[in-house]
Amino acid sequence: RLTDADSLDDIEDIVEQTLRPTTFDQYLGQEKAKKELDVYIKAAKQRQQTLDHVLLYGPPGLGKTTLAMIIANEMGVNIHTTTGPSIEKSGDLVAVLDELSPGDVLFIDEIHRMPRAIEEVLYSAMEDFYIDIIVGQGTEARSLHHELVPYTLIGATTTAGKLSAPLRDRFGIVEHMEYYSEAELSKIVFRSANVLNINVDEEGAHEIARRSRGTPRIANRLLKRVRDFAQVAGKDMIDYDIAESALNQLQVDDAGLDRLDRKILSMMIELYNGGPLGIKVIAANIGEDQETIESVYEPYLMQKGFLKRTARGRIVTRKGYDHLGFAYPDKKTD
Ligand code: ADP
Repeated sequence: RLTDADSLDDIEDIVEQTLRPTTFDQYLGQEKAKKELDVYIKAAKQRQQTLDHVLLYGPPGLGKTTLAMIIANEMGVNIHTTTGPSIEKSGDLVAVLDELSPGDVLFIDEIHRMPRAIEEVLYSAMEDFYIDIIVGQGTEARSLHHELVPYTLIGATTTAGKLSAPLRDRFGIVEHMEYYSEAELSKIVFRSANVLNINVDEEGAHEIARRSRGTPRIANRLLKRVRDFAQVAGKDMIDYDIAESALNQLQVDDAGLDRLDRKILSMMIELYNGGPLGIKVIAANIGEDQETIESVYEPYLMQKGFLKRTARGRIVTRKGYDHLGFAYPDKKTD
């Protein structure tokens, strides 16, 4: 049982591993992606072929890594994982590809952050399972044809638009990860509570689910934090009251917005009359990097209907004004 040490990052990692579903049955939600992948996996297995390359895209914490592991599991192959930024030279790519056994899955997280030059090396590695390695320099330089075993590349990215078109086109299967519904997240909270030995009732689980911005990783994190509040309050069951008061103290509001979400909206309203505003200006005012705002904050604020993208930039909607308790200026239309 985990106690006060569980705020440590490595313990968080271990908990994240133990909470990871390992089969399609345990993987809740994402019905469309699951159904399609199930067909492709069955078909590939029947033909005794490797699965086509898969691109998973969507905001962090929606289950891309988990899904990649399940795909490997269902295919009955091993998964090797790496990240885009850690592949700096073509030699790094050759090294990871050479470790694969036939049919294995290579998972590249944050694949959009791979250097462009490496992306180009990846084209032939994906299409025809070989890499041309340049050896020697100047007039001595020649290219060596290096054969690879057949494998499945699973790439994960927060936004498919960040990938170059030629790389994107080389993925035969592209799945968009959706935000989870409250009902799905409630089930995930129950499942995690069960794994972690935490007591939570229906209303308590629902309240955590409702405020988890559609994201399982956040639901799991909030569950653990609410558990701390419950424990200190001497309660052995997470019910609505303890969930509600704990989440308020954690500054997660009843629409699931955290402090930074609200800061983005209020900054836009107070300093810029609600927009339109370019992403660069938003990032500079908030002190967060542009990519995080685009891939984490903006998609959720848009899906909640608090923020809208227009040709001239981002604007806060009437719903956004209402949510933060600001009066909506008359001159605006949206
Ligand atoms: P991503 O790779 O998209 O950032 P992960 O696959 O690492 O997200 O998922 C984060 C955590 O959320 C995992 O540890 C897992 O426990 C949980 N999780 C994600 N998707 C699901 C799901 N469909 N059902 C249950 N738990 C999930």
